[in-house]
Amino acid sequence: MEFEAVIGLEVHAQLLTKTKIFCSCKNEFGAPPNTNVCPVCLGMPGSLPVLNKRAVEYAVKAALALNCKINRYSVFARKHYFYPDLPKAYQITQYELPFAENGWVEIEKSDGTKKRIRIKRIHMEEDAGKTIHGEGFDENSYVDLNRAGTPLIEIVSEPDISTPEEARLYMQKLRDILVWIGVNDGNLEEGSLRCDANVSIRPKGSKELGTRTEIKNVNSFRFIQKALEYEIERQIKVVKSGGKVVQETRLFDSQKGITKTMRTKEEAEDYRYFPEPDLPPLIIDDEWLESIRESLPELPDQVKERFISDYGVTSYDASILVREKELAEFFERAAKAYKGEAKRVANIIISDLLGVLNEAKLDISDSPVTPEGIAGLLTLVDNGTISIRVAKEEVLPEMVRSGKSPEVIVKEKGLVQISDESALREVIKKVMAGNEKAVKQYREGNEKQKQKAVKFLIGQVMKETKGKANPRLLNELIPKVLEEG
Ligand code: ADP
Ligand code: MG
Ligand code: ZN
Repeated sequence: MEFEAVIGLEVHAQLLTKTKIFCSCKNEFGAPPNTNVCPVCLGMPGSLPVLNKRAVEYAVKAALALNCKINRYSVFARKHYFYPDLPKAYQITQYELPFAENGWVEIEKSDGTKKRIRIKRIHMEEDAGKTIHGEGFDENSYVDLNRAGTPLIEIVSEPDISTPEEARLYMQKLRDILVWIGVNDGNLEEGSLRCDANVSIRPKGSKELGTRTEIKNVNSFRFIQKALEYEIERQIKVVKSGGKVVQETRLFDSQKGITKTMRTKEEAEDYRYFPEPDLPPLIIDDEWLESIRESLPELPDQVKERFISDYGVTSYDASILVREKELAEFFERAAKAYKGEAKRVANIIISDLLGVLNEAKLDISDSPVTPEGIAGLLTLVDNGTISIRVAKEEVLPEMVRSGKSPEVIVKEKGLVQISDESALREVIKKVMAGNEKAVKQYREGNEKQKQKAVKFLIGQVMKETKGKANPRLLNELIPKVLEEG
């Protein structure tokens, strides 16, 4: 019997607000332990939560970008459990009435096919603190409550995901969108985006859902795929050997690449949810919703389509350009500043600029090269001032190093292309004198050998002129000079 997997993800995303969700403590990663705390996020009796309006704004922004319906009336609830990182012994979250439902995102698979993954609901909640123990510490456990009260949204997908690859792509797509709209920093290692993966198997083609397991806290894109691959294999083995999958929570051991039982259904906690009495229902009125909708930028998929239709960029290049908002903006500004084909702008950014920046350990957002600089560089090639080779190999790296304009660099370094016929003739003659074999091959050889000789001599002239000879002119001139003898 053949099996297929069914996967649903619950993704927690921290919101990039300046302060926490229910108090005015700083929301920042990496501060000394227990310094960003106050009576509210420490759960002191008598302290009262006050909802951070900016957190709601960011949450709604995210939900709109994920095509959700916004519930104008939603309710916070208390979810009870006992753990040292949760000082109140309950987490404020949303339960029966979340603020957003029924959305979707579209993923594009490696074979180019697209698939919509539906989002069941998004709710707001507060993060817990962190317990710290293990390697590098003594035998004690420590608690850091800086993270307690960080605003989160939990994005719950429908079980629409069919493969570990789709799960990874879905998670990456969520990250790209949330980072693009500025509500999350996309940093998985720091826990800004965390994923619990639910997975079951069923006979291929079956419509029923099998018993699922939940893999907790998978914290990299690679691990999501790996953990699911392992878990699907494991479930298939269990069923094939006559057993039954047990509903349970499992942990991924990234060292060993396996999942292990954490707790079974019998051990599952009863969270005793009830509405949070210290917070009024959350009401999002028309005016506020509209102003948030208006503040939303054009989304990556829309920008990608526009780059293809307006600028003639290939679909592949467009998808690279929209990976980051800053990069997309950089491209569009350069394309507007450039008089020639925008395709060439995309090309030099993707195949050259990104590489040079990467070597210099720079992001596009702190690129010393401006979009206008890229347009200027291509213009210098178009009007014959420099060759494309000099542009890419000499001028561009210098633009990144010094931040100077291409025009200044070309002047300072004397990189102007040699387009002067008599000057080029001189060089060609010199090169011919030093390469008699090639000259002979040209004069005595057949058509193919002639071409080979010309190509070789072009290379030698380029070497001699440090790449500054005008290649078009060279192509014409070399056979001419050879014929002249
Ligand atoms: P709970 O209330 O127990 O958290 P939910 O219905 O909210 O359960 O589902 C949690 C996640 O698990 C969702 O992403 C959902 O798509 C997924 N899910 C539910 N049932 C299955 C199943 N049988 N197999 C795989 N994933 C599932
Ligand atoms: Mg759930
Ligand atoms: Zn606080």
